Amino acid sequence: MLLNDKVALVTGSTSGIGLAIARALAAEGARVMLNGFGDKAEIEAIRDELAQLSEDCAAYSDADLSNPEAIDAMIAQCTDELGSPSILVNNAGIQHVAPVDQFPAEKWDAIIAVNLSAVFHTTRLCLPAMRQRGWGRIINTASAHSLVASPNKAPYVAAKHGVAGFTKAVALEAARDGVTANCISPGYVWTSLIEGQIPDTMKTRNMTREQVVNDVLLAAQPTKRFVEPVEVASLALYLCRPEAGSITGANLSMDGGWTAQ
Ligand code: NAD
Repeated sequence: MLLNDKVALVTGSTSGIGLAIARALAAEGARVMLNGFGDKAEIEAIRDELAQLSEDCAAYSDADLSNPEAIDAMIAQCTDELGSPSILVNNAGIQHVAPVDQFPAEKWDAIIAVNLSAVFHTTRLCLPAMRQRGWGRIINTASAHSLVASPNKAPYVAAKHGVAGFTKAVALEAARDGVTANCISPGYVWTSLIEGQIPDTMKTRNMTREQVVNDVLLAAQPTKRFVEPVEVASLALYLCRPEAGSITGANLSMDGGWTAQ
């Protein structure tokens, strides 16, 4: 299988896009470390499912990525239990929707910490072993919001633009080392992150749930359908293939045409 000898760390992989990516990598034989929050029994069932796909080997870290020390511990645990990651998928992300002049400062700090600073910490900790091995894949789940903005999402837009810029810089620094760094930038994908922002958007825009889905979320997406998590996962898997070795520093849109407008 494609990833038989590889260890993959996928942050924010207890649900949504990250879980789809973790499943796709494990199905190709990667030993996967899961990370994220959720019901312990459900997470253990996912870990078990992935272990069965890859030589009985999968692990889980409950590291809170807003805490750099917890990130350190997560990488150490991964190295100890599975080996040092040669595939790093920075996928964990949070959202909060409010006008910038009413945005709670602690929400700004949390969004920047999880969506942007954590990407720096995992990358700086994983890159040396990738370089040593002469092979690595850094795949960052950015967003259409790494390219364009929407109102009431200033911290998220700032963080995702930051991830896109950071990815380019890392790609250049690692270009001669067999390590690629890319962003995947989905449009709206139906996950708990989207589900969670509907009530706030209903409130701030005085809209019904149906209006938020059709007139706000899918308004920007010409295909008029949500992207599927497995679509994002298959692109992540492609980036791990040998023939993707020259794709680096790219911000790959998967947004139903949103940012083509
Ligand atoms: P999700 O809510 O289903 O998944 C988020 C994951 O991150 C979960 O596993 C959660 O437990 C984890 N997480 C949250 N805070 C964390 C923390 N402090 N420490 C560790 N883990 C934490 O959402 P999703 O839509 O699958 O989002 C995944 C990524 O995709 C995010 O970076 C998001 O910004 C990005 N994205 C999502 C969409 C979309 O429409 N859903 C679009 C573009 C980009």
